[in-house]
Amino acid sequence: MTSPRLFGTPLSPSAIKVMLLGSGELGKETIIALQRLGVETIAVDRYPNAPGHQVAHRAHVIDMLDGAALSALIALEKPDLVVPEIEAIATETLLALEEAGKITCIPTARAAMLTMNREGIRRLAAEKLGLPTSPYRFASSLEELEQACATVGFPCVVKPVMSSSGKGQSKLDSAADVAAAWEAAASGGRVDAGRVIAEGFVDFDYEITLLTVRSVGADGQVETSFCEPIGHKQVQGDYVESWQPQQMSSAALARARDIADKVTTDLGGCGVFGVELFVKGDMVWFSEVSPRPHDTGMVTMVSQVQSEFELHAKAVLGLPVDASLRAPGASAVIYGQIDAAGIAFDGVADALRVPGVDLRLFGKPESFARRRMGVALATAEDVETARRRALEAASRVKPVSR
Ligand code: AMP
Repeated sequence: MTSPRLFGTPLSPSAIKVMLLGSGELGKETIIALQRLGVETIAVDRYPNAPGHQVAHRAHVIDMLDGAALSALIALEKPDLVVPEIEAIATETLLALEEAGKITCIPTARAAMLTMNREGIRRLAAEKLGLPTSPYRFASSLEELEQACATVGFPCVVKPVMSSSGKGQSKLDSAADVAAAWEAAASGGRVDAGRVIAEGFVDFDYEITLLTVRSVGADGQVETSFCEPIGHKQVQGDYVESWQPQQMSSAALARARDIADKVTTDLGGCGVFGVELFVKGDMVWFSEVSPRPHDTGMVTMVSQVQSEFELHAKAVLGLPVDASLRAPGASAVIYGQIDAAGIAFDGVADALRVPGVDLRLFGKPESFARRRMGVALATAEDVETARRRALEAASRVKPVSR
């Protein structure tokens, strides 16, 4: 557990030093939030000029799956806190360093390790904690996958155990789709391409991210706060739109909070967790959890008193948090649309003329058609209007090559 501490001056011996492992758009906002509290920030990513690199005190480029490179950098920088922002990290190295008392990992190295692999977190949620999930089986060969899909039934969803944002994911309607799903998973996974999960398809009414914050209370004990539920729309397993609050029945909300409380309590430590849940009527299924701010939670930059990034920064530093809603809000993703380096954005002023709108352009050095390059954010009297405004603003921003 993080203890209260003295807040120092960056770039001096009194500084609190925080190292972000992964410096994309979520890391960038976390770094900005930390800097507002006078924290010295160190941004790490696998490529130069990542969004977080551009706002941190120091930037490093390493392969974060390389345990030796990761320990060498940690030994060099000696951060007070190591904050994973992505899943693809040598988490066994973080675990060994944490066990040796050499680092404090957020929320814990075990949480980072369990959640980087769908098998770890699914077995924890379903088998240890008894939480409701879709039926599932794991497979390491085409033959095992055929058996797994037959057991969970059709339709089902097949995903590499090491993947995110829909990469390598397929929906299968019948046994005829299994071979293609195996191929897609083998090419779309991050590492260990040979293992997949087959999940029964949940015919949900809507899906939510329940941002859950573990922070230190006035009595020194860890307490749990919940943000208002965030609804979101996914296309090909990747988020395109989110809004807050998502209306839910009180029974479904109570179940969602109970599931989030159980899984985050088991994972432990302090910080923000993005608990992903499927909802149908009053029924709620656990899908997965990120032990860090969540992409669908970017809406909180306009909709909450403290964004998920401010909540994370405060919680990991042992400070009190306020998870309350400020106004109904929405976010809409701005995709790269073109494959090119150093692109420009036209229509930014037009986008900002939509009432209640703000924008974030992440500054990623290279664009791909389906790469998330920015986000439009909007608030309004109600969620429907906020969604319309965010979509309208996002559509006015046009990536162009220079
Ligand atoms: P994931 O990478 O596991 O978060 O999946 C991405 C998205 O695919 C989810 O947000 C859902 O929209 C959809 N999805 C994943 N698993 C299932 C499932 N078992 N049933 C229905 N939809 C799913």
